Amino acid sequence: MIVVLRPDATESDLEQVIEKIQELGLTPHVSRGVTRTIVGCIGDEDRLREVPMLSFPAVETILPVEKPYKLAAREFAAGDTVVKLREAAGGVGDGAIHVIAGPCSVESREMILDTAESVKQAGAVALRGGAFKPRTSPYSFRGLGPQALEYLAEARARTGLPVVTEVLDTRQVEVVAQTADVLQIGARNMQNFALLSEAGEAGKPVLLKRGLSATLEEFLLAAEYILSRGNRNVILCERGIRTFERALRFSLDIGAVPFLKKETHLPVVIDPSHAAGRRDLVIPIALAGVAAGADGLLVETHPDPDRARSDGDQSLTLGTFASLMEQVKQIAAALGRSLATAAA
Ligand code: PEP
Ligand code: MN
Repeated sequence: MIVVLRPDATESDLEQVIEKIQELGLTPHVSRGVTRTIVGCIGDEDRLREVPMLSFPAVETILPVEKPYKLAAREFAAGDTVVKLREAAGGVGDGAIHVIAGPCSVESREMILDTAESVKQAGAVALRGGAFKPRTSPYSFRGLGPQALEYLAEARARTGLPVVTEVLDTRQVEVVAQTADVLQIGARNMQNFALLSEAGEAGKPVLLKRGLSATLEEFLLAAEYILSRGNRNVILCERGIRTFERALRFSLDIGAVPFLKKETHLPVVIDPSHAAGRRDLVIPIALAGVAAGADGLLVETHPDPDRARSDGDQSLTLGTFASLMEQVKQIAAALGRSLATAAA
């Protein structure tokens, strides 16, 4: 249930409404928009029906939320959620296109420092790089672990780029959150409910990737796990799903972008790299994502992709990444949008 306040409602009106909601045993979630404030209520909604909320002069209307996800539903927020990456002005969801780039995995100090400098130069606003990698085979390279976190911190110190890195397990959340600016939860962990909850309490934004075979409803309910732990900073990432099609690594669900933008206030980015599985298709897929309304991109970029220890086939060279950025700029301009710029 959502309680919508009148535009002229005061802070003390809001406090009265919150008090009443809490008295009924529900949890209020306040969202302040440009013109009005709304209070979403989570809990036993029947309790709310017992009280004439409309008799509060500051309450304009009460709306039910029929969706299974509540906190993620667009109605539950007064506007788009903007997820700040460190203290830069603006953030993902503010209308500008935010590009996050870097290797699949951090392979050495030199390669992550080189990549960070180069993607920053090309206009990326954050650096990605896996320290802990989920791999299909236990014998594949699974990341440098804590050592990679140190390299990422050094890359951030040098470039100012915030760091996005994956957390695989509840036991790692604390250590990864000490370095990461954004915790990535990968496709294979989208329904690891313990991990979602733990990440919801880590105090860092979460980039949540859609599961390989997850419906959009399941995706939004996974986000709900994080939101329900009090973390409002969730970025959704469409990275392709598994279909009968084998020509590409995954099928990017382009329709998910406008659907999610309608359905939720959370920002949506696309990952063209894992969807394509091959370098030559990354740029057109990325451009399609931007054209469909994505708030940003997550792109695998490597100084020497042919020698990468993971996902080299789909990683752009640093030069090709710069070319992608030029093309994104053109698509953005055609849409009346702009590329986000990194904090100084
Ligand atoms: C990654 O971003 O490198 C990754 C493992 O992605 P996904 O979880 O989407 O497969
Ligand atoms: Mn990868």
